[in-house]
Amino acid sequence: MRESRAIGIDIGGTKISIGLVSESAAVEGRLTLPTEPEAGFAEAMQRVVEGIERLLTSAGARADELAGIGIGCAGPVHPGTGTIHNPFTLPGWEGASPVRVLEDAFAVPAYLENDADAALLGEVHAGSARSFEHVVMFTFGTGVGGAALVDRRIYRGTNGEHPEIGHIPVDSSGPECYCGVRGCLESVASGTAVTKAGQALGLADAAEVFERAKEGDPTARSLIERVVVAVAAAFWTALHTFMPEQVVFGGGLMERQFEVFAPALRERARLAERAWGQRFLFSKAELSNEAGMVGAAFRALRPEEVA
Ligand SMILES: [Zn+2]
Repeated sequence: MRESRAIGIDIGGTKISIGLVSESAAVEGRLTLPTEPEAGFAEAMQRVVEGIERLLTSAGARADELAGIGIGCAGPVHPGTGTIHNPFTLPGWEGASPVRVLEDAFAVPAYLENDADAALLGEVHAGSARSFEHVVMFTFGTGVGGAALVDRRIYRGTNGEHPEIGHIPVDSSGPECYCGVRGCLESVASGTAVTKAGQALGLADAAEVFERAKEGDPTARSLIERVVVAVAAAFWTALHTFMPEQVVFGGGLMERQFEVFAPALRERARLAERAWGQRFLFSKAELSNEAGMVGAAFRALRPEEVA
């Protein structure tokens, strides 16, 4: 019998990734579109619908064979109503429902999740968190996202929102964040934050800061040291808040620089293990930048499980 397949969509502030994903987590087709949020929600969804049609055609698949369509989207989003409420990176899309548009276009069930929750679902179903029931995931990219799996269910707050772990304070002398506090994790350790701090030193971007630090440049090293301390503090907070078996570090920054953070994380895990007699594991995300897309597809492939 043929495997079930679903469409997974990852909507970010700058690009939208769409994939046709099978139950065995094989991505049978993928494409990327620019988000261009300023062109409006309707225009973007028109391109998404056309993109899905192209993927189905080239895979020789029909929409009515799909288990459904899952969408991971930069939050805030409301999974229950299927609507987007993100004035930060998707301005003008507030209250819009990609679920309604896609259900109307393809006549299959559609689901909306925060992108960090979608990435967590990807790692839980097909990546580094497969055998665990208590997991925390951080995604370090343009911003810092977070999600938690508690007793094999996605932890949900008000309106189904995920925990905003990216905004826990880690450095009281850090930069001010749009969330209203100084020195939260995102304002110190997101790719954007590292780039901004690097530019103040005359460097081009985050990649150059890491490169200079590796070469031994003292200013770049102290900047990276500050970022590592911030990430280790957030890890410590996550361990003590959720008592997870596994903490997964994803996003572009971790995909490239995880080894820079690993020694400090190992040290914190060891300390926590000694204090609480629990085993705390951590790892890099296995699905790298496709975790959100694959996880979104699994939201549709396994609607009753985990979510
Ligand atoms: Zn913040």
